[in-house]
Amino acid sequence: MSKKIYERPILRKVVEGIPNKFGSLKRLRPISEIDGVEIDSIIDTYGSPVFIISENTIRDTYRSAYRAFATRYPKVQFAWSYKTNYLDAVCRVFHQEGAWAEVVSGFEYEKAIDNNIPGNKIIFNGPDKSKEDLKLAINNNSLIHIDHFDELNTILELRKELDKQPQVAIRVNMDTGIIPQWDRFGFNYENGEAWNAINRILSSGLIDLIGLHVHVGTYISTSKAYTIAIQKLADLANKTYDRFETTISYIDVGGGFASQNTLQGAYMPATDTCPSFDDYAHAITSAMNEASFPNNEFPTLILETGRAMIDEAGWLAGTVLANKRLADGRRAMVIDAGINLMFTAFWYDYEIYPLHETSFQSELTTIYGPLCMNIDVIRKNINFPLLNKDDRFVIKRVGAYTMTQWMQFITYRPNIVMIDANKEVHVIRKKEDKEVFRQQEEIPKHLQ
Ligand SMILES: *Cc1c(COP(=O)(O)O)cnc(C)c1O
Repeated sequence: MSKKIYERPILRKVVEGIPNKFGSLKRLRPISEIDGVEIDSIIDTYGSPVFIISENTIRDTYRSAYRAFATRYPKVQFAWSYKTNYLDAVCRVFHQEGAWAEVVSGFEYEKAIDNNIPGNKIIFNGPDKSKEDLKLAINNNSLIHIDHFDELNTILELRKELDKQPQVAIRVNMDTGIIPQWDRFGFNYENGEAWNAINRILSSGLIDLIGLHVHVGTYISTSKAYTIAIQKLADLANKTYDRFETTISYIDVGGGFASQNTLQGAYMPATDTCPSFDDYAHAITSAMNEASFPNNEFPTLILETGRAMIDEAGWLAGTVLANKRLADGRRAMVIDAGINLMFTAFWYDYEIYPLHETSFQSELTTIYGPLCMNIDVIRKNINFPLLNKDDRFVIKRVGAYTMTQWMQFITYRPNIVMIDANKEVHVIRKKEDKEVFRQQEEIPKHLQ
């Protein structure tokens, strides 16, 4: 008989079925499959940790968002926000569903071109567009959303050497009641800068102003902000028509819809509180219908929804590395996925599940990632069942901003797989290995 492992006894309150103010605590049900595929088999084949993306969920989410808007407004166009998740396979699913591309850098612009998106269906946002980027975008008839006067000047300069009329919109920032106000992007509405930019564009006669753009912020949990934003853009559209007889052909309200991840410190889970696509669509399309645009025309409504479109489709599965007791006796669990893969864990209380049935007992636990870095915390305080070393877990709703903001610190970035509609699993981004890094590095001769 082998000797049992000794753990020094301590007294802790074990929580089992005691009600809190929201009712009885529910036993955490395991999640063992995604779209009918065993998570265990995915880890066995593709390693741990591993990101898993559900193609079905992407399509279902896109379709319900589209339906919410298209049933309420005659002209609706979504553009996929590349920075939220720019894996080519993911982008292509959105493009197949009908989304244009929304990019914020030369790198993302090139990706959109490589994903076969025609230039006139690429929206080019952001403060960082090089002269070369702008030249390409003008030649491809892309929709350039101007961020600042320096960019406008560069476009006017380029206009002299190119015989293409640039197709532009301006990004407008404004007070919509959201704090903090994002006033660092685009031209301000209240102080007249946006109107000033419109005047400079249209009085030049060298550039077509075809749209107005606003992106209020991210995780905007009240749809009211969009109503205010649309009223202010409609005012600019009307002034533009009165002064220049130019009709704005689209209003782009950006992204910002909340996903169902709960923010740290929130009183209630986001699954109960965050507005649905129908809530946002109702507010936005009502504001579009109520605002009177020039000649009573309806401009196309463009949406650049990122987070709310992809969060639900992404999962991160992994393995428990160790359990330990902290100095005060609190339970801690170390897992093989940290903030290197989920930068977003700084803001969200991610939902994490075991893959298999556990005991009824759970205990307040701090979940740490694997990094040698004190801030590598995935959950500060979660009532969690007792998993052992080598047990596996899966984290829910990690599709947004994880696979683009991840960092290569200490270890390689893992495989990303996609489950298709036929339950086939495809690697869509390979795990890195030392060759990836060897290729990028150079050793000076005297150190060889
Ligand atoms: C990041 C970004 C988006 C997407 O925002 P979400 O909050 O993820 O919906 C859309 N438009 C612009 C200009 C952005 O910078």
